Amino acid sequence: MPFPNIDIATKIKSQAASLGFDACGFAAATPVDDEAVARYDRWVELGHNGCMKWASGHGDLRRDPSLLLEGAKTVISLALNYYPARFQPPEALRVAYYAYGRDYHEVLREKMTKMAHFIEEITHCETRPCVDSAPIRERYWAQRAGLGFIGRNNCLIIPGRGSFFFLGEIVTTAQLPPDEPCTLTCGNCGKCVDACPAGALGVEGSVDATRCLSCLLIENHDEQLPEWVGNVIGNRVVGCDECQLCCPHNAHAVATTVEDFAPTEAVMTLTRERIEAMTSGEFKRTFAHSAISRLRYKTLLRNATIHDGNK
Ligand code: SF4
Ligand code: SF4
Repeated sequence: MPFPNIDIATKIKSQAASLGFDACGFAAATPVDDEAVARYDRWVELGHNGCMKWASGHGDLRRDPSLLLEGAKTVISLALNYYPARFQPPEALRVAYYAYGRDYHEVLREKMTKMAHFIEEITHCETRPCVDSAPIRERYWAQRAGLGFIGRNNCLIIPGRGSFFFLGEIVTTAQLPPDEPCTLTCGNCGKCVDACPAGALGVEGSVDATRCLSCLLIENHDEQLPEWVGNVIGNRVVGCDECQLCCPHNAHAVATTVEDFAPTEAVMTLTRERIEAMTSGEFKRTFAHSAISRLRYKTLLRNATIHDGNK
């Protein structure tokens, strides 16, 4: 296929828009740059990946997308808005916005599969869609593909549109014209560092997952959390959005049009009483198609009752 194939690139981006993606960009599938690799390795060495043990494996694959798909030429980065149109009432225990509706893995996978088929059809090349299913540095690739920049809150920030976006990647053997990487930064802003209730963010832009509530409430399944967590958890039970909510780039976030991401009845009415009255089986049924299913019932109950151990 000739390079750069502008016509095919335009068709791919149009298809992404028609499938509801909010942004789509291309980056050459060359290895991750040394500085980004060193930063990541240092983060793991310091143990700041915490209970995200998976983050320390597959360093070679994480560095080189051509190990995910032989002959890879391009990483396509896609973003899908999940900023809610409706919010939980104040009496409900707080769930991070990303887990309000249907499991984003399911929603994104459906859309990414359609994208991948479309790309294969028009380029006759191979594709490998990735939705948290492969060790790939999704924010890094989104930045390189020009979608936005990685903020101090460790989220991908799309200038003027914020950070409430799911990211997905399609690695492909199709050679597509790379977009200009985004070179914006947070500048002097440090609002998220100050707003983090757990002191998990460093000014240099790293997150200590051993302190991050998002990680502790979702990925840590220990019977008990450290006592200090009870002092800062507030009424959160699933994740934490604080470092995004305070970010000026989210001041003008617009609501998603993806109906699947609307808060479910279970999320809107999630109270401690409701959780305590649930059985493990009911939890599984209620959250079968929700990202909350990853918590397991015992973890959700632990999060809802953490203040008991703190009295
Ligand atoms: S998700 Fe919450 S706890 Fe984690 S870094 Fe952001 S503000 Fe801090
Ligand atoms: S709050 Fe400020 S420092 Fe934090 S990510 Fe947003 S712009 Fe960057």
